[in-house]
Amino acid sequence: MKDSIAARLEQIEEKIQAACRRSGRERRDVGLMAVTKFQPPRAVLAAWQAGIRIFGESRVQEASGKFLEFWKTHARNGSHELHLVGSLQRNKAKVAAALFDCVQSVDRDSLIDTLGSLTIDRESPLMILLEYRTGEESKAGFVCRDSLFRAAERALSFPGLMPSGLMTMAPFTGDTAAVRSAFRELAAARDELAKRFPAGGWPCLSMGMTSDFETAIEEGSTMVRIGTALFGERGA
Ligand SMILES: *Cc1c(COP(=O)(O)O)cnc(C)c1O
Repeated sequence: MKDSIAARLEQIEEKIQAACRRSGRERRDVGLMAVTKFQPPRAVLAAWQAGIRIFGESRVQEASGKFLEFWKTHARNGSHELHLVGSLQRNKAKVAAALFDCVQSVDRDSLIDTLGSLTIDRESPLMILLEYRTGEESKAGFVCRDSLFRAAERALSFPGLMPSGLMTMAPFTGDTAAVRSAFRELAAARDELAKRFPAGGWPCLSMGMTSDFETAIEEGSTMVRIGTALFGERGA
């Protein structure tokens, strides 16, 4: 498994670099997250050994089962991050706030309040991204720019939170134009946010998965979230 993940990573890396060249971007400005949901611990280890340092999980319990142990032996030095990319229920928020470096799937005001109150005593603020719904198929996310901007203002009022950007899932379609326009909308919303709330900074645009990461990079993604292309089909 180790070798195949390393080989797949090499192919993904080539595509990332090509997309950067096409769009005049620097490779170092695009983060690569390995989405390890439904993958066994040995897949996490293989990705780590291949050089991956940003991991994404969609469920709190699964993530804590896999990563609490893993960090004990692998997290001593150097930077590494665990991000939540799946929807977060209120009753899991406390565990999530302690486990994750970033919650990318902040999709409602009540969750901002919950996380804000849970992070008052955190040593360093919890990074969050606001999830923006750019395609009808995705059920999660703020549905319009106005709700996004109100959420941004709310998030900035909590000292334990560090709102850092936006996340989206593009519509699941082979229609590249529709996917591209979803990514453009996310980038435009981020630019507007940065104008209205310069204190936030908003550097992170988390967009692009296995099927669309090259388009996402062309449209400004600063973090692609890759599962299938790295590990194969989930559950296979
Ligand atoms: C599963 C998942 C990914 C990875 O999807 P792949 O198509 O397997 O690369 C990325 N982002 C989110 C939010 C996910 O739930």
